Amino acid sequence: MTLALGCIADDYTGASDLANTLTRSGLRTVQTIGVPAGDLKLPEVDAVVVSLKSRSIEAGLAVTRSRAAEKWLRGRGAGHVLFKICSTFDSTDAGNIGPVMDALRQDSGDAIVLVTPAFPETGRTVYQGNLFVGSVPLNESPLKDHPLNPMHDSNLVRVLARQSRIKVGLVDLATLARGADAVRARLADLAGQGFGAAIADAVFDRDLETIGSVALDHRLSVGASGIGLGIARALVASARVKSHAPSDIPEAPVGGPAACLAGSCSQATLQQIAKAEQVMAVLHLDSEKTITGKTEAQQALSWANEHLGQGPVLIVSSSTPDQVAALQARHGRDAAGHAIEQAMADIAEGLVRSGVRRLVVAGGETSGAVVDRLKIPGFLVGPEIAAGVPVLRAVGVSNGAMLLALKSGNFGGPEFFSDALKLMR
Ligand code: ADP
Repeated sequence: MTLALGCIADDYTGASDLANTLTRSGLRTVQTIGVPAGDLKLPEVDAVVVSLKSRSIEAGLAVTRSRAAEKWLRGRGAGHVLFKICSTFDSTDAGNIGPVMDALRQDSGDAIVLVTPAFPETGRTVYQGNLFVGSVPLNESPLKDHPLNPMHDSNLVRVLARQSRIKVGLVDLATLARGADAVRARLADLAGQGFGAAIADAVFDRDLETIGSVALDHRLSVGASGIGLGIARALVASARVKSHAPSDIPEAPVGGPAACLAGSCSQATLQQIAKAEQVMAVLHLDSEKTITGKTEAQQALSWANEHLGQGPVLIVSSSTPDQVAALQARHGRDAAGHAIEQAMADIAEGLVRSGVRRLVVAGGETSGAVVDRLKIPGFLVGPEIAAGVPVLRAVGVSNGAMLLALKSGNFGGPEFFSDALKLMR
């Protein structure tokens, strides 16, 4: 199998978003957790998204890890590699977008790299090199106060130039509107003047499609899920990839007992739990006992084993904002969160040991803890349960097929847990 597209994402949720976007655009896509082992067995796929956690680490480390990911992807035949960054260009003057781009450009041998974080469907557009979040420039958006990467300059040509050793130019919207050949001519002109990267304006999906088709002339590009969409559409339009709907991919049903875990305390999840109480067995953990000892997780597993034969179960740590605040006041926010995440991971591990092969997890951090604990190397992205939440089929696991759904707290409709299990057969 030869990959049509390889992607390196600088954080896990961004990787999921990209993998889901590629899948919706017709590419069969696997998302891996970290750089996979050399011998990872993959199903027939068009794209692999390697998820790193490299957005806010030291720049040298981000470069080393991104290069290792690139090497793996090129080894699987990827002719084009997309370095996936946040659509709000989260970074500082010390990196990590510039240093990683510079290193990957050197490895790829490209004279010039197209860069755009635009993703119009989520309100991220770029005009004259300036990034807008909805109707306001980046430096007037809430991102200006981001705790790790405060963004005080909306002009990405300047922002990227401060992080990079190469000269950064602009492909403006007027050039994009004249089509792919005009963009190619502009890039050739910039490269001739010694520019090594160009921020590309994009306001509409058609701009991303133009950028995508030009990007495929090169070996490397940098951007958010929007450029991923443009590249995927260009791959399909040029017949380099045959489009697949996720439901067309033949996979054997997994079956067996199903379980759900809720660690998110978001309003949406609390409402979804209340709905689930009407159709499945639900256990509410005692959060105080969950933090102070191991027995709560053990008892939850005994309870699950009694109920799994009769239908799906839901185990919940979530509680109301008042209760969460009280618990955090007693134990500290991070300590409380971490202890509960680990208890949920203990429970997930125990459930899988008891034969559960269909697992739904509500909560971003909670999902991360569960996936780490289950040591799942990657997922084939399947049909969407709700916007942004696909069914995931584990790849490279030794103990048989397994389906997961991992959702951020606020995602999904009121019947999310039942909706998920209906698609996870
Ligand atoms: P979301 O996607 O809604 O942000 P996360 O799983 O990312 O959900 O974050 C929820 C955090 O709250 C986790 O760290 C989790 O362990 C913690 N948590 C879960 N239940 C409780 C509770 N009852 N009290 C305090 N914190 C909790």
